[in-house]
Amino acid sequence: MSMIFRSAELFQRARAHMPGGVSSPVRAFGKVGGTPRYFSRGEGAWAWDEDGNRYVDFCMAWGPLILGHAHPAVVEAVIRAAKDGLAFGTAHRHEVALAEAVLEGFLWAERVRFVVSGTEAVQTAVRLARGVTGRPLVLKFSGCYHGHVDSLLVRAGSGVVTQGLADSAGVAPGAAADTLVVPLGDLSAVEEAFRLHGDRIAAAILEPLPANNGLLRQPPGYLQGIRALTRAHGTLLIFDEVISGFRLHYGGYGALVGVEPDLVTLGKIVGGGLPVAALLGKAALMDQLAPLGPVYQAGTMAGNPVALSAGIATLAQLRDGSVHARLEALGAALEARVAENGLGSRLKIVREGSIVWPILTDGPAPTTAESVPADALARYHAAYAGWLDRGVYLPPSAWEVSFLSAAHAESHLDQLVAALGGP
Ligand code: PLP
Repeated sequence: MSMIFRSAELFQRARAHMPGGVSSPVRAFGKVGGTPRYFSRGEGAWAWDEDGNRYVDFCMAWGPLILGHAHPAVVEAVIRAAKDGLAFGTAHRHEVALAEAVLEGFLWAERVRFVVSGTEAVQTAVRLARGVTGRPLVLKFSGCYHGHVDSLLVRAGSGVVTQGLADSAGVAPGAAADTLVVPLGDLSAVEEAFRLHGDRIAAAILEPLPANNGLLRQPPGYLQGIRALTRAHGTLLIFDEVISGFRLHYGGYGALVGVEPDLVTLGKIVGGGLPVAALLGKAALMDQLAPLGPVYQAGTMAGNPVALSAGIATLAQLRDGSVHARLEALGAALEARVAENGLGSRLKIVREGSIVWPILTDGPAPTTAESVPADALARYHAAYAGWLDRGVYLPPSAWEVSFLSAAHAESHLDQLVAALGGP
């Protein structure tokens, strides 16, 4: 067992001053039990906690660190920008540079607005869709997560197309009721939603590659079907690519499947580890945002120069495609190791590129959140403390995907497979 005195002491103090001792809920280790590890340093694929224990990190800050911890080019860019001033509250050249770099990956889009978090990007996208269409409703897909926007913090009622029910205390029933919820993977439910409410739906929003309740692959033609229905009904299609944006190639998941949405939300990788998110789309739509249009959005920290510098440096590393090629090879090597070690009967690696969801089941890979087997979740949570002891840090919840980074090597995969394979 690794020593965790400092983490334990810090957690005790944190709990006295912060709700649950954390700044974001899953960090509290509620599902896996035990003491959250207080990270003090990260380098490449490795992270160290306050007690000096070293982990191969597969959580990677929940997605932004596609290059690994503290990539030298990113750190250098941040230091350089910081020395020039931490914040300006004015226009500056880094905004132009990141806007150009982002749009290079989304050739159909023409404008980008920078915000601070994925939640804020989604909130702005939904407001813009309502503002432009003059319609009240938003269509959400059960199992997709879009941050803690009130109108999207909803769950389905019983039925195929339902008005959303608040999934958190404090969400006004009215905010939830303007959201329709359909199950993932069921195009007929989307058809039904449009048959019932078509001319009142401002936007349909989904993760084109749902990765917030495990990695839930959808049937071929599904996104194309949603695109056709939204277009036929004058509804805007929002792809929430906060996880998938720049993760699988230099651009979005939409381009990989040949589906062009109306709006895309980005976060995580676009900020290279600092708080940056973005909303992008065609000029006619995006120019409806203030100051040109009537849809208001603003932010003191929006487009912060230091944060944007991390994004610019990160995207620069991704542009030639070699990082993504390496990540794909690493992902394939992980699958091969699971098979070679005879783990296939109790461990599935659901994977797209460097998004990896280890699920401890002998059944098929689930495609909806509702079909994730409870015993697979329980096994992950029960095994978690052992993985930490073996020096492997995965997200402390079986619902979360893991991430490979350019800093991972095959030796790190060996360590992961040995841990997942159990004692
Ligand atoms: N959308 C998706 C698909 C996400 O995965 C997340 C966060 O994980 C968000 C939105 C919210 O982003 P943030 O946590 O930066 O507010």
